[in-house]
Amino acid sequence: MTSYRRWQIEQPGGPEQLRWTSGDLEPQGSEVLVRHTAIGVNFIDTYIRSGLYPATLPTGIGNEGAGVVEAVGPDVSLVAAGDRVGYCTAPPGSYSEARLIDERSLIPLPGGVDDETAAASLLKGLTVCYLLRRTFELDGSHTVLFHAAAGGVGLIFCQWAKSLGARVIGTAGSAEKADLALANGCDEIILYRDEEVAPRVRELTGGRGVDVAYDAVGRDTYQGTLDSIAPLGMFVSFGNASGPPPPVNAMDLMQRGSLKFTRTSLVSYASTREDLLDLAGSLFDVIDDGTVRVHINHRYPLSAAPQVHRDLEARRTTGSIIMLPGE
Ligand code: NDP
Repeated sequence: MTSYRRWQIEQPGGPEQLRWTSGDLEPQGSEVLVRHTAIGVNFIDTYIRSGLYPATLPTGIGNEGAGVVEAVGPDVSLVAAGDRVGYCTAPPGSYSEARLIDERSLIPLPGGVDDETAAASLLKGLTVCYLLRRTFELDGSHTVLFHAAAGGVGLIFCQWAKSLGARVIGTAGSAEKADLALANGCDEIILYRDEEVAPRVRELTGGRGVDVAYDAVGRDTYQGTLDSIAPLGMFVSFGNASGPPPPVNAMDLMQRGSLKFTRTSLVSYASTREDLLDLAGSLFDVIDDGTVRVHINHRYPLSAAPQVHRDLEARRTTGSIIMLPGE
């Protein structure tokens, strides 16, 4: 039996709804007890906390983490005590010193990827991998629009997309964020708090628009994204940082040139263990060969989770955020 502390949500709401609780853990069946060494923070965590993504309460929070296997249930065969592992598709619960997790959700970590990098990149990097390899097969013939290019997902996306030869037009909320995105694969940046996105995209593309637009900002950017896509292009909606986007009007897609629209989730792209490990392998390759550098721009103690959410929602962060247990 292992004692642990974790952050828990009992009522949806603001960062003040994060509650610090404690309990005991003992793995059963195919469960594995993982002691965290680093915990990744994602904007999605704020959706669970606020209730935008409904969860059965009380619930743990956080979907990305790395650590060491401390104990295993009697049916576990994929990992053993002492193994270094990470994960990003298990039920929420990574904001904790330790947790139980089904063995099938665990990703063995290679020697070249340290725990902090894994915690800072598994959810974001696997997302980028499916977005540019599976949702849309990106290559050097494509021009892309990517919102919030200096964010956690954004910095990984821009570097990876650039390595495939794509032309990347990013958006960012400040000049400092613009500089960061430009240094990490963006060819052009639109400061979308100051200028309209679609006219600028048309200007940059000779009036044509982009082949694919990735929009996880949602409500505030939806219309500009739609108006930026070239005929036969694709709108990839994958998040709601500014709030949920409006319902899609099929006529809008037709009138702009038979556009395709998809609303994606990592859960569907990593639903089998084979897919999960395949996406993870691709991420580890691009980290290992230097194509993608994971920018851990913010480290907080696990005890500071409410402040982390305030900073993330106030758009004060760039790149990846991790929390460290035991501080
Ligand atoms: P980020 O680090 O990108 O943080 C969110 C960024 O969104 C902010 O820094 C800010 O950048 C921008 N933003 C624009 N409008 C707002 C607003 N009103 N409030 C807050 N932020 C705003 O977060 P993540 O990298 O963790 O995630 C990025 C997005 O990707 C999220 O929407 C998330 O839900 C989505 N996602 C989707 C997945 C999927 O499979 N569907 C998986 C993983 C993430 P700026 O100041 O430059 O505008």
